[in-house]
Amino acid sequence: MSTLVMKFGGTSVGSAEAINQATDIVLDYAQKRDRLVVVVSAMNGVTDALIESARTAVTEEEKVFRRIIAGLRAKHHDTIKTLLPQNGERDQLLSTVNQLLDDLTVFCHSIHILGEVTPRALDAITAMGERMSARIVAAALRHKGGKSQAVDATELIVTDDKYQNAAPLTDKTRAKIQERLVPLLEDGVVPVATGFIGATEEGVTTTLGRGGSDYTAAILADCLDADEVWMWNDVDGVMTADPRIVPDAQVIPILSSSEMGELAYFGAKVLHPKTVLPVVQRDIPLWVKNTFNPAAPGTRIVSKVEGKGKIKAITAIKGMSMVTVEGRGMIGVPGIAARTFSAVASKGANVLMIIQASSEQSICFLIPTPMASPVVEALEEEMERELARRDIDRISSRDNVVIVTAVGAGLRDTPGISAKVFGALGQASINVIAIAQGSSECGLSLVVAADDAVGAVQQVHSQVILNGG
Ligand code: ADP
Ligand code: ASP
Ligand code: MG
Repeated sequence: MSTLVMKFGGTSVGSAEAINQATDIVLDYAQKRDRLVVVVSAMNGVTDALIESARTAVTEEEKVFRRIIAGLRAKHHDTIKTLLPQNGERDQLLSTVNQLLDDLTVFCHSIHILGEVTPRALDAITAMGERMSARIVAAALRHKGGKSQAVDATELIVTDDKYQNAAPLTDKTRAKIQERLVPLLEDGVVPVATGFIGATEEGVTTTLGRGGSDYTAAILADCLDADEVWMWNDVDGVMTADPRIVPDAQVIPILSSSEMGELAYFGAKVLHPKTVLPVVQRDIPLWVKNTFNPAAPGTRIVSKVEGKGKIKAITAIKGMSMVTVEGRGMIGVPGIAARTFSAVASKGANVLMIIQASSEQSICFLIPTPMASPVVEALEEEMERELARRDIDRISSRDNVVIVTAVGAGLRDTPGISAKVFGALGQASINVIAIAQGSSECGLSLVVAADDAVGAVQQVHSQVILNGG
């Protein structure tokens, strides 16, 4: 019995034409495989618009969020009317979309009156994009003769209550998926599940973080013991760099899960960083393919690859701040690092990179810029005594920096890799502010000024990757 999970991203369901293309692919594979599960993102741009509706409900006049909701209504209605002939099913779908957007209007109205939006409310709001797209895709499949049903992942994925970035509770999720999806699959139905969303044990809607539909597909694949997962995208696969920054980026035919994990973690938006783990731990092959060019082979992600020590891809993560705690009095004082990072953790900041001088005169770390002020304040409070005694001279933050990461299996154990990267950057007079290598065997991360980020990516790509890594 073969089970395939396919996820279609925002662009792949972003218009009636795209949905036509995606549903052709689904129907083709529904014939070829015993069991097929589809996961969809919201239509392209919809999640951003939903967030904007909630944000403007707090700060702007009522007409602003109403205009955004009217835009969403038009987008979904136009798509439905292009895809489906006028009949009862189409009317039903239009009224379901209306109902969801009417609920959204009520939510935004309450937010407007209260003057604030909670993470929990934001999850209820952002979940609407996938609720609409899953229903549209399932209806389009039925219209083309397929057996299909939309399923809200609130019925499948049980999560904790960390709104906006919820984590699945594995055993409970597995049980729900077995109970809700397996009977459909046994009936030959193609379920179209909403990506990105889940629900707490109490049934409150949560989301898995931006780009989380990839993670949904991975969770379903794991829980259904799928044979393969295919992520349908708008690019021919995982590329040597973001094609929007590097036009001559090339498709990488095969990548290891650690390489993919490193790329995703350090900003390559093509896959959500948590996606790789559930599938690769189970040795379920993962493919990234292009909805608009299905004949292209795509990228295969496997647990290990042969041939080591080459830089295969380069990525960058913007919007970072580098926080530095420094002072000669820190030398040899035990516990400074532990106290530093517990102060950081108290603010819930995600630390992407840590650099410490061996003499312990300074500790630097990289966090997203919105967290920089609260973290510096927390550190100043925690280190009040050391600051007063001048054991610590300064706690400072430098904004507008970017982490650039070169990725390739075995980089840590291959001589000469850093020389190639620094040589390429030196040629373009790009200054490297900080470096971290070694904690991951397949990544070399550098910090550069935001203005240098594009140049750094392009330079490493042209001088190192296109020259054989
Ligand atoms: P989807 O909505 O289908 O999940 P995303 O927009 O989340 O699509 O991710 C796909 C986009 O990721 C591509 O259009 C591309 O611009 C971007 N991207 C960034 N880095 C890479 C990379 N290394 N390889 C391929 N795509 C990348
Ligand atoms: N729609 C969600 C987002 O835009 C999830 C996804 O597309 O994967 O973040
Ligand atoms: Mg995505």
